Amino acid sequence: MASRCLEVGTPAALPCLPLWYGFRLVVDPSMADAERMAAELDRRTGLAPRDVDAVFVTHAHGDHLAGIGCFDRATWLAAPDVAAAVNRGGGLSRELESASGRLCDAVDVVPTPGHTPDHHSLRFDCDGMSVVVAGDAAMTRDFWRERRGFFNTADFDLAARTIDELGLAADVVIPGHDNFFLTGRRDRET
Ligand SMILES: [Zn+2]
Repeated sequence: MASRCLEVGTPAALPCLPLWYGFRLVVDPSMADAERMAAELDRRTGLAPRDVDAVFVTHAHGDHLAGIGCFDRATWLAAPDVAAAVNRGGGLSRELESASGRLCDAVDVVPTPGHTPDHHSLRFDCDGMSVVVAGDAAMTRDFWRERRGFFNTADFDLAARTIDELGLAADVVIPGHDNFFLTGRRDRET
């Protein structure tokens, strides 16, 4: 599938938004206030919530799905264990659907445990680069560089190993609470 990133970015506590022609995906919508969520989406992409086809939730922490209700026309997705945990907790107007493997023939759902045991990230190719939307598997660039999990990480050793593995797979990382950064993977290979 021909794909092209129109915009990829995530400041603290805001959604990551990879966009493809014909497929629009928001990751971890975090703003509980629907107006603020819609305003931020518009500021970053010029889109309205109704334009979004799918939302993906990386893990069950509330700050990564508080804004999901804003996307009532989208399909709500998460890895099976994450979907089950969120659905068990209730509180959403409908359930998350299980997603695994490859979404829309373009985006890989990849396990990235440590921050939570069931944490999953997304990986896709864009302009010849491998991009990972890491959720809280990488909080910020500093946490990434220090191979450090956030204070509420379930397994710090596993989180560090996940960062190492993502470092082998990603040229660009979009962390959960910062803007994207380059991993330097290609520099290490040459
Ligand atoms: Zn988290």
